[in-house]
Amino acid sequence: MAWRFALRIDPVASVERRESFADTFRVIDPFAPALPVGELSAQRGDGIFESLGVVDAHPQEVEPHLERLAHSAQLCDLPVPNLAQWREAIVMVAREAGRGENVMKLLLSRGVEGTDAPTAWITLADAPDNAAARTDGVRVATLDRGYALDVPARAPWLLLGAKTLSYATNMAAIREAKRRGADDAVFVSSDGFVLEAPTASVVLRVGERFVTPAPSVGILHGTTQLSVFAHLEQRGFAADYATISVAQLAGADAAWLLSSVRLAAPVCAVDGQVLPVDRTLTDELNAYLLSPRD
Ligand code: PLP
Repeated sequence: MAWRFALRIDPVASVERRESFADTFRVIDPFAPALPVGELSAQRGDGIFESLGVVDAHPQEVEPHLERLAHSAQLCDLPVPNLAQWREAIVMVAREAGRGENVMKLLLSRGVEGTDAPTAWITLADAPDNAAARTDGVRVATLDRGYALDVPARAPWLLLGAKTLSYATNMAAIREAKRRGADDAVFVSSDGFVLEAPTASVVLRVGERFVTPAPSVGILHGTTQLSVFAHLEQRGFAADYATISVAQLAGADAAWLLSSVRLAAPVCAVDGQVLPVDRTLTDELNAYLLSPRD
């Protein structure tokens, strides 16, 4: 990873109002060790994060990312983040980005074991080259996530809608997809419905209608999906949440994996079965996603 910048944040209470939070920020060397050995983020993956796209030094969709950070914190019983403090830190870090695409990560951990004080930091790095995924597309393998659609409501302690730092299973799913000759995975519920990809939302086009699974099935509410749906609705398309079977994914007119950094990656095959790629619409979506969005 080509790191550019890192900032430690001393989290203050959510109710605290200040002119400036600058004295709670500390620039740190992104290549030097920075966390104590007792950090629960490292020991247990006990924390949450957000990845924002930064294009030509403009951080994209800051408010939806902050809303999701607060939602994840609530699900994980972490202290409520002071969003004004995070907003100011994001502006400061974005200034360090160059032209082109960067990725900014916001991280909030439960902190060092025994201290009861959360740890927070932000990193900035060059974005990976996603040109091939955005144009040629990605082949996906559907993988059973092992949960039925009703599990998030029955077992909230599984934290299924939170963006936690425990991404080991997501990364394992991508490795399994690669073993099956695909580029990425799409998680499917044990009762056969499409959920999300390990690092992206799944959106289908069926005729003139765009659909994606509802966040209530225990998936992240994608900020990119939200932004794309608003854009499509503005263009006169219908865009809704729906229960989607694996057969519907394989038979869609087109499908995309949407996420903040890779943006719109068309799905070109599902379990080895070819899916049409709508290059014109994909290019148009990516041009929109690369434009400054707030
Ligand atoms: N679902 C999962 C599991 C993800 O990790 C991500 C992004 O990292 C998404 C969906 C898409 O979210 P966003 O569009 O906000 O990047």
